[in-house]
Amino acid sequence: MLSEKTTLPSQANGTDPVRTSPYQDSVAAYWNAERNPVNLRLGEVDGFYHHHYGIGEPDWSVLEGPQDTREERTVRELHRLESVQAQLLADHLGPIPADGRLLDAGCGRGGGSLVANRRFGCRVDGISISSHQVDFANQQAKEHGVDDKVRFHLRNMLDTGFETAAFDGIWNNESTMYVELGLLFAEHARQLKRGGRYVTITGCYNDTYGLPSRAVSEINAHYICDIHPRSTYFKEMAANRLVPVSVIDLTAATLPYWELRARTHLTTGIEKSFIDAYKDGSFQYLLIAADRI
Ligand code: SAM
Repeated sequence: MLSEKTTLPSQANGTDPVRTSPYQDSVAAYWNAERNPVNLRLGEVDGFYHHHYGIGEPDWSVLEGPQDTREERTVRELHRLESVQAQLLADHLGPIPADGRLLDAGCGRGGGSLVANRRFGCRVDGISISSHQVDFANQQAKEHGVDDKVRFHLRNMLDTGFETAAFDGIWNNESTMYVELGLLFAEHARQLKRGGRYVTITGCYNDTYGLPSRAVSEINAHYICDIHPRSTYFKEMAANRLVPVSVIDLTAATLPYWELRARTHLTTGIEKSFIDAYKDGSFQYLLIAADRI
């Protein structure tokens, strides 16, 4: 079992107790090296750094007007849309009491944990397989003055070392595609109290399309991930005492974010694949909330 210490030394030689496979080494290396302006510039707006996509109708006028303010306005608009997504996820966790405890599994640079702490006032633990992200996120918690309640740890979400039935709520915001769902949900079911809430927002491939489309395969290659079929979420939840209470298809709500992002200075090259995959019906953006029974 891992200690409660915030960070462990990161090693790329396979002896790191957090990472258990060469695949996980490559995921950690990706996130340790990641410095995309679409994540960093947006987070600088208010100190809530997210690594997920946005939802809602954009203000398209940010693409017009004087060049000298256009970049700043598009940054703020994309950040507004990703913040709406984080708030929607938090809506589905609650109510969480101030003495409750939450786990942000695959926490990125920590923005979602800070959102949940601000909403509920409760303790939040965020975990990532990237030591760079954990250090960055702990610095953010300090700057927000909440490091007594929000703590980030270098841990593997498949074997966290946290005690059994410790959490009132757990979420994965765009991080389930890095792990086998059966293993993940077994670990979540162990850590959640009975009646606790699990929420995920995730891209999944649409079983009715068939196997992954070219565009979905491009997304997998870009992020070194393995997008699961929609069916596997429900199969593995049912097998692990997680009973869905809400399922929301956010595909139509996220498409405008991608169409806006594709027209800004913040592209990463993967925008067309997302737009194609959402439009051809092979890919869906879902929120699933479930109760631990
Ligand atoms: N949830 C965050 C957000 O919404 O901003 C970050 C999402 S980012 C797309 C995926 C995250 O999953 C990264 O922080 C990565 O380090 C983390 N991750 C991937 N595999 C992991 C694992 N096995 N254990 C813990 N974290 C993992």
